[in-house]
Amino acid sequence: MAGTGAGPIEQLLEEVWQEASLRDEGEVATYIPELARIEPDVFGLGLATLDGQVYTAGTLVPFTIQSVSKPYVYALALADRGSAALEERVGSEPTGDPFNSIALDAVTGRASNPMVNAGAIVTSAMVGGADRAEQFDRILTGLSAFAGRDLGVDEAVFDSERVTGDRNRAIAYLMRSAGLLDADVDAQVELYFRQCAVLVTARDLAVMAATLANAGVNPVTGDQVVPRDVVPLVLTVMATCGMYDYAGEWLYRVGLPAKSGVSGGVSAALPGQLGLGLHSPRLDARGNSVRGVAAAQLLSERLGMHMLLPSERQRSGLRRTYRADAVRSRRGRPRAHRELLDAEASAIVVHELVGDEGFASTELLVRAVLSDAQPARWRVLDLRRVTRIDTAAETLLSSLVAQLEADGVSVSVVEPRLPQPRSALRWLPGTVHRFLDADAALEWCETALLHERGVDDDLPSDLVPLRQVDLLDGLPEWAVQAIEERVTSRVITDGAVVFDEGDPADGLYFVAAGQVASDVRMKNLSGRRRLSTIAAGSSFGELALVDGSTRSTRIVALEPTICYVLSPESFDELRHRDPASAAELVMAISRSLSHRLRSSTADVAAFEDL
Ligand code: GLN
Repeated sequence: MAGTGAGPIEQLLEEVWQEASLRDEGEVATYIPELARIEPDVFGLGLATLDGQVYTAGTLVPFTIQSVSKPYVYALALADRGSAALEERVGSEPTGDPFNSIALDAVTGRASNPMVNAGAIVTSAMVGGADRAEQFDRILTGLSAFAGRDLGVDEAVFDSERVTGDRNRAIAYLMRSAGLLDADVDAQVELYFRQCAVLVTARDLAVMAATLANAGVNPVTGDQVVPRDVVPLVLTVMATCGMYDYAGEWLYRVGLPAKSGVSGGVSAALPGQLGLGLHSPRLDARGNSVRGVAAAQLLSERLGMHMLLPSERQRSGLRRTYRADAVRSRRGRPRAHRELLDAEASAIVVHELVGDEGFASTELLVRAVLSDAQPARWRVLDLRRVTRIDTAAETLLSSLVAQLEADGVSVSVVEPRLPQPRSALRWLPGTVHRFLDADAALEWCETALLHERGVDDDLPSDLVPLRQVDLLDGLPEWAVQAIEERVTSRVITDGAVVFDEGDPADGLYFVAAGQVASDVRMKNLSGRRRLSTIAAGSSFGELALVDGSTRSTRIVALEPTICYVLSPESFDELRHRDPASAAELVMAISRSLSHRLRSSTADVAAFEDL
């Protein structure tokens, strides 16, 4: 909001900040002497969205990150070494023990999880780098990439912890004796202490969490900080082990994967939505920031952020289902073929899908297809308006296709307009026919149906006499003859433009042989869009004869074509000399226009979901 005070998000953060500020119990951690020097009542909040907007409230002072570094360094180690290497030394099991307990998992002999000190010390040791200095450089640059700015180190806190950190050394010795650490214990523990002394603010913790919520991409800088596939592993240990012995109740009340630290920081992520950063040094009996926990709980309640809240039911991805007896391709066909299609093309079914395809929407499609009482020989999955196909949709669609094909159904797919549609559909069997739009798929299915019925879809090579042209069907012989006397023939070579958009109207065309296509230039997109193909026995250009205006489409010959043309002058002459024949022609044109209007109404009516 441009300089006009607080918007609803700032207001909400402010209210939550006020309310949580009333809590003044708890003690600042003092076991690292230098930590005791911090002002106990500072309190800052940050909320980062996945498009990089960051809201804050309260005081954003720098403080040492401490244990909040653990999930982020775990993410870096996973990125550098892979999950298998880490799993040899660190598990993912919550413990009932304190974070700094000198113990390994009794059954596996590994560190229980990367959120307790034992696991975190091994994790730091596994971050990529030839020596300790390179490893620390990787940690500092990595944490900075999560925060979206260059972070520094509080050397005083580091020294203070190094001098007093014997408990962590004890943990490290235990791990070295168990073969989990091979390095020099002191150097190893110092790497971990230095990681804990990195300086952040509540705003940084919000951006860091938002990076996890955003599949590893920092929403502020746009950098992919860690690969997408490490993110669920990190969020899992945060959810189960991130809040010490309060992890269960935290998940119950707040419902977010989170990590807290002894300096009073909390970083919490709502996957796909946002990141939260909280900082207030007074800790409760379990070692979590009193105000941080209170504020997170208030925010979670007001925003309904619990990650296990049942999410909105996914909207149907099945937009409509229609059959080709009701909605025909724009390919012009001789009457006999059209009649056959009218009678039989219900065997061609198009399922049009929209939006994100996930489990729910794909299950709906599967059910619609399998419960379809009318048999289908051809099914078209129109994915043109699909924006995403997730793993569940891939799995279900590919097995649906396989099952349909095994049942003798021919399956076609209209490709989605995704950045790489072909690689997006790599899971489809090669037998599936692929098309760029639904019309092309429909036309192909119609032709396949005609072939199966033994109908040769090739166009007649003889000239269709004027009396057999559809438009003049049913006209009295004398009227046809009067028109025949006034038409001229025009031969059009393959690929030639018969007329273009905006050209003056030069007459009504009856196709005697060959085939033309009409298309229009798209206003907002580059390129042209085909409207129809017009074969021998059909006509075009009647609109211009009626209203005298310029051409609204372009007509191109798809093969050598012969047309009979009735020019506007000849038509005028007919109206004066033979008004009865002219009236018959005008009625015929009206009938054909009203027929086209009705069938486009029928198209709309047919676009209903099953
Ligand atoms: N550096 C601290 C330690 O290992 C971090 C602990 C914490 O924040 N829980 O003792």
